[in-house]
Parts: sequence; structure tokens; C-alpha cells
Amino acid sequence: MQNPSPLDAEIIAVGSEMLTSQRLDTNSLFITDQLNSLGVEVRRKLVVGDDRAILTAAVKHALMHADLVIVTGGLGPTEDDLTRESVAHALGRELQFRQELSDAIEERFRRRGRKMAENNKKQAFLVDGAEVLPNPNGTAVGQWIEHEGKVVMMLPGPPGELKPMFANECLPRLTARLPAQFIRTRFYRVTGMTESDLDHLIAPVYSKYTNPTTTILASPFDIQIHLRARCATEEQAERLLAEVAGPMEELLGDRIFSRNGDSLEAVVGALLRERGATLAVAESCTGGMIAERITSVAGSSDYFAGGFVVYSNAMKEKALGIHPELIARHTAVSEEVARAMAQCAQLRAGATYAISTTGEAGPESATGVPVGTVYVGFAGPNDTAAGRKFNLPGDRARIRLFATQGALDYLRRQLLGI
Ligand code: ATP
Repeated sequence: MQNPSPLDAEIIAVGSEMLTSQRLDTNSLFITDQLNSLGVEVRRKLVVGDDRAILTAAVKHALMHADLVIVTGGLGPTEDDLTRESVAHALGRELQFRQELSDAIEERFRRRGRKMAENNKKQAFLVDGAEVLPNPNGTAVGQWIEHEGKVVMMLPGPPGELKPMFANECLPRLTARLPAQFIRTRFYRVTGMTESDLDHLIAPVYSKYTNPTTTILASPFDIQIHLRARCATEEQAERLLAEVAGPMEELLGDRIFSRNGDSLEAVVGALLRERGATLAVAESCTGGMIAERITSVAGSSDYFAGGFVVYSNAMKEKALGIHPELIARHTAVSEEVARAMAQCAQLRAGATYAISTTGEAGPESATGVPVGTVYVGFAGPNDTAAGRKFNLPGDRARIRLFATQGALDYLRRQLLGI
């Protein structure tokens, strides 16, 4: 089943400053978001310096592959602002001086008590056949050019000028051109596996389809999967999504922790709230990072009792009441100590549940167990206690981050009885 003749776009950001380490092209991110919400895919984007030949070639090339070509920047009054002439050249059209545009720029300067410089007249040239996109926030007007069934847009570089122009001028024109189509999306957040393992698992499902599109994004904490179907009818879009999402969900199973974008700490918080339960944490190698994540969720005071940061053995004994013999027998980095930490925290805080971490984050191992070894302890109602060992990869920062993720996911699994 195919899309209703979808439109593809290419974005060209013009400006030599974006070829240095000083400036990033952010306009294309905004434009991509806007286009995606209309079901338009961005197939390619380019950053081009202030070079007439390269820019002309880039526009010509873009026109061969995309229905919409959006060129941003290079509409200023100076010598190195070459977008107008390069686009005209690429389209084989002339540039025409428009007195009314020149007058408007002059008036704009006058209102500010300034005189228009001669080179500002450059901004009064329109590509033959272009529609003016007014710019209430600057002197450079945008241009909308329909060319052999395609559209080329020229938009000013400053984001404060580009964004309102795109929203007010380009979106309505684009919406009018788009075929009727419906977009349906699914969104999953997954934890407990690497990006390559995840891709290996689900690629056989999604790679058969170009619609819906599947995007996989890895973040330090988890992996996000976006599915987007666009079809002529709502039913088709739903059916296509279900065709891919069904088998994908089956393969990923309980590794999916969120279907609405919620973070793991928010998901765990909601589970605790549903149960009318409270949580305490006892942290060694994560040094308070789990408490930080839990309390970053608004309303966490409903279920979070508090935490113990017990980095030294002495604090594990004094603050939590861990028996020194237990540490002597198993070392501080052990499942037995992790479990005892959770039980003591649960008891001292009077909480329904507790989780704990103890591990070797490196770079050196203090206890002899390999760096990356982290134990997570759990204590629940009716004296239930459990623990899990993780072998986490990476440097100290990564091990500590993954340890917080492992602990929160372990708690989620315990709460769900997985
Ligand atoms: P102006 O008339 O203001 O000169 P212009 O269209 O010529 O408009 P540029 O001179 O290319 O725009 O860029 C002006 C400023 O806008 C740049 O210094 C930069 O700060 C910002 N800018 C340009 N392009 C981008 C982009 N793609 N992403 C983010 N910022 C940009």
C-alpha cells in the first residue's frame, strides 16, 4: 500500500559561518519539524558556504530529487549574499528589480530614523515569477517560486525572521498543495538492550516497509522508536501501523517501558502512585543520582519517601544499620549487601518499597570485583527482597548512568511482577 503521492523536501542552509565550528544550522531542524507535521519528508539537507557556483549546483541538484526546495539565508544586502542570484541562475530565470520592495525597505529604515544604504537595493530583486513572502521582522523578504510542478522557497537566515515567515506564509501555501493524507504515529521507549541488539531484533519487521517510516534514536538512557504512517485514509494509516507495530511490540515485549514518551522515572512513579505505595533508595555507586531522577518528576512527593547516600562502608553501617560482618563476608559490592541496603532503607524510611545500588564505577576497583559490576537490591512488602547483578560497559560516567537506569527498570519489573 503506497502513500498518497507524498512530497519530499530538501533544505539548503546558506552561510559560510555554518561551515565553521562557531555556528550551527538550526533553521533546518525547525523546518523539518514543521514539514514532518504535514507528512512531508526531508530527504536531504545541505550546508553551503557563500559560493555562487556551489549554491547554484546545489539548487539544481535538489530540484532533480525533491518536490520542495527550501533555501535559507544569504538574502542580506552584502556582496556575499548570493542566494537570490544563485536560485535565479539554477532555475534559468531573471532577477527583476521591484520598486515597491525597495520603497518598503527605505520606509522601514526611515521609520527607524536611518537612511537606507545603496546596497540594500539588492534585497528588492525578485526571481521572475516569484511570490513575495513578507518579512515584518527584517528587510529581506522571502520568495516562493513554483517551477515545473515543484516549489523553491527562499527564506531569511535569522531564526527570528524565518520562523514566523514559515509559519504564517509557507505553511498555509504548503497545506493547500498537499494531497489529502492522514498521519498516524506510534512511539516506544525501550530499555535493557543496546541499540545494535534492538535493531538486529526488529529490523526484519520494519525494513520491509517504507511506510510507515521507522526511526530509532539512542539516548544515554534508553532507545526511542518512532513509527509514522501516512495514507490517504485514516483506516489505511492505522492498518499499516498495526502491521508493523504488532510484531515489533511482540518482539520487544516488556522491554518497552513507555508508549507515550514518559521517562522511566515517570513510569515508575506512576506505578507507585497507582499502588498507593512509597519508595526509599539507598545509593552507593550512584551517589544520589537515582533520587535525583525520581525527584525530577513533578508530584514525586506523593510516593518518594527519601534516600540514603551511603558511599563508605561506615555510612552503610551507621546510616542504614548494615551489619559489618555482612560486608566483611561478601564485600560491599555484592548481591547480599545490595539486598540488605534495600531492606534497611525500606525499614528506616518506613517505605513500601526500596531499591539500592552498590558497584564498582571505576576507573580502579576498590574491592577487587571488575569495574562495571553493579548490584541492585530490592525490598518489597511482606519481607520480599531480591537483587540483580549488572555488568555495565563504558567509563565511570556511563556506568553510573546505566546503573540508575538498571535500578529503575528493575524496580519497574518488580512492581509489574515481570
Ligand atoms: P539578513 O538580511 O539578516 O542578512 P540573511 O538571509 O542574509 O538575512 P544571513 O546573513 O545568511 O541571513 O544570516 C544572518 C544570521 O542568521 C546569521 O548570522 C545566523 O546567526 C543566522 N542564521 C543564518 N542561517 C541560519 C541557520 N540555518 N540556522 C540558524 N541560524 C542561522
